[in-house]
Amino acid sequence: DQDLTEYRKSLAIRVSGFDVPRPVKTFEDCGFSAELMKAIAKQAYEKPTPIQCQSLPIVLSGRDIIGIAKTGSGKTASFVLPMIVHIMDQPELEKEEGPIGVICAPTRELAHQIYLEAKKFAKANGIRVSAVYGGMSKLDQFKELKAGCEIVVATPGRLIDMIKMKAVTMLRATYLVLDEADRMFDLGFEPQIRSIVGQIRPERQTLLFSATMPRKVEKLAREILSDPVRVTVGEVG
Ligand code: ADP
Ligand code: MG
Repeated sequence: DQDLTEYRKSLAIRVSGFDVPRPVKTFEDCGFSAELMKAIAKQAYEKPTPIQCQSLPIVLSGRDIIGIAKTGSGKTASFVLPMIVHIMDQPELEKEEGPIGVICAPTRELAHQIYLEAKKFAKANGIRVSAVYGGMSKLDQFKELKAGCEIVVATPGRLIDMIKMKAVTMLRATYLVLDEADRMFDLGFEPQIRSIVGQIRPERQTLLFSATMPRKVEKLAREILSDPVRVTVGEVG
């Protein structure tokens, strides 16, 4: 009985905000393109996870979001799938102006995992994904960014280095994801995050995910998100 109670608590979802789109039950409900549906089918994702059911329609509607959920709940696809849709909606430019989607993650392992997940859905749509993080050759990463990409996944410090080296600009970025924000703060990346955010136009769509919401993260969220919807899965937050 205790176990069942705990289990139910772990699945509880709270959503707050105004005019929040209804959750979806299936990926078909999301209105994804045939290419994207094919890529999802290839992953054998039968249906969206609870946080995906809530957050996909919110993010697809263009709203900013704060997603509070523990590891393993499927947060990555909840920001990567709408990112693909967002990018496909942008006009193609003759001249490269840098990535449209920017994802910041605390560690190279996490950045690499997100990179792999993003590639699964990006490739079929002709979207290029680059990953830059510490511990890798700056020259190689410089060259990769120079070759062009629509999505960059990065640890904050290395992204700043790449911007300083003029490997990449934030001129065209309109979709920003801060993943595992609490861990990025724990690792001391707050100044780097603020610097990156400061270089991205304010009329962007911003998504912040975190397992916990300490006061400092809450403060950042208030400053950089506009009228966000808050989705909390389980007891966290
Ligand atoms: P989180 O970021 O919340 O820790 P992830 O996005 O890394 O979670 O997802 C955890 C695992 O679940 C990954 O292996 C991912 O491929 C898988 N996954 C994500 N969405 C679905 C889904 N709708 N159906 C089945 N598996 C999924
Ligand atoms: Mg994650």
